[in-house]
Amino acid sequence: MKGEYIYQTLPHFFQNLMVSLYNKLMYKKRYGGEYKEYLDRFIKNRTLSLTQLKEIQNERFVDLVNFSKVNSPFYRSLYNNIETSSSVNEISKLPILDKELLRKEIDNVRTISSRQAIHSKTGGTTGKSLEVYFTTENMQERFAMLDDFRGRYGYELGKKTAWFSGKSLLTKRDVRKHRFWKTDLVHKVRYYSTFHIKEDNLKYYLEDIIQFQPEYLVGFPSNILEIAKYGTRYGYKYPERVTKAIFPTAETITSEMREIIEPFFHSKMFNQYASSEGAPFIFECSEGNLHLELQSGVFEVLDDDDQPTTSGKLIVTSFTTYGTPLIRYDIGDSITLENENKTCSCGNKNPMVREILGRIDDYIFSPENGKINLGNVSNTLKDTKGIIRFQVIQNELNTLELFVETDKVVYNKKIEDKFLQNWRDRVGNKMEISIHYVDNIPVEKSGKFRIVKNNIKHLLSE
Ligand SMILES: [Zn+2]
Repeated sequence: MKGEYIYQTLPHFFQNLMVSLYNKLMYKKRYGGEYKEYLDRFIKNRTLSLTQLKEIQNERFVDLVNFSKVNSPFYRSLYNNIETSSSVNEISKLPILDKELLRKEIDNVRTISSRQAIHSKTGGTTGKSLEVYFTTENMQERFAMLDDFRGRYGYELGKKTAWFSGKSLLTKRDVRKHRFWKTDLVHKVRYYSTFHIKEDNLKYYLEDIIQFQPEYLVGFPSNILEIAKYGTRYGYKYPERVTKAIFPTAETITSEMREIIEPFFHSKMFNQYASSEGAPFIFECSEGNLHLELQSGVFEVLDDDDQPTTSGKLIVTSFTTYGTPLIRYDIGDSITLENENKTCSCGNKNPMVREILGRIDDYIFSPENGKINLGNVSNTLKDTKGIIRFQVIQNELNTLELFVETDKVVYNKKIEDKFLQNWRDRVGNKMEISIHYVDNIPVEKSGKFRIVKNNIKHLLSE
């Protein structure tokens, strides 16, 4: 791409400037329009009773269903013979929508045109590419909700933040100079590359973070973990009372992560659950409990026979998906609910979740670049078309095998090149990568599809 090429040739300072400008434009969209109104409302609503929260939930549920019936060809025909109810209590009358069906019917599910939409691509954890459309207003509401959550710990845009996300911003020159970040000078956000996290580089990451002194850390927790481990191992002292909170995204938090990250950065982690297709939110509170956010959607926990239970698959209905409505969507994760009678001393009356299960904490390993986490593996689908799903298997340190199911009408050599380039961006140029085109990638005994199968963990020391 031309823009990308120009960016690559600019000096570091101008690249920082471009990152700042890009963000300024993006933030204008995110934080314009209805954003402020939503944020004020969510802040005010922090103290609502459970009854009040359920009233809001019911009202929004009815509105989303009615809207979808009128504006989405898919839902219009899906609900054709169903008397859609006027209450969330009768949600089980509606059919469940699984990922496969959503992917297949996506053009009919959407209610807005590509031009009007904010696009969100998701590889998810199943390796299938899917693109949902958000309305600008829904996107603004989602950011308001996230900012209300982070704001409980003092966060706001403009406070110094270290960000670890799947953006690929570095040039070869940066890597040579051990400079693994770019900075948005206007909003004081430093983006650290998540593609170069490996032993030899960790020193530079860590020493830069210590010098940068971010008030907040946001992003892939597996990356933050590697840095904290390195710092602990080599006796680095991270300054106290600098970092106020750590907000992990996209991956499951393990207890190991908390035990190593929190003491090293002298800061607590506050977990959240969401997804790029627009799932409703689950937020961790100051007491370390997870709360469903009923204002953002409906959460059902069902067993294998689709009957309500306390631990099972999560079916979501999301109120911020008017562009691509998600109603009773099987998102592919499972959760365990907390006992209904339990209340939390944080003051939030939203029901609690005992545990978010589901997403597999897995990675592949590049001798050149280190661990490539699941989020980055999924992102290899970026700018590709026609890849139905893929699986990556690593049986040796220096080789990767990709098994790929394609839509032969759409897929071509050019897309293969892009897909492979996305892999090279992450694993480097030394690993041997082979692609096998197959008609069907088998699932695990558990019935679960795994995008990553790492069979070399025993070779890697901690
Ligand atoms: Zn709480």
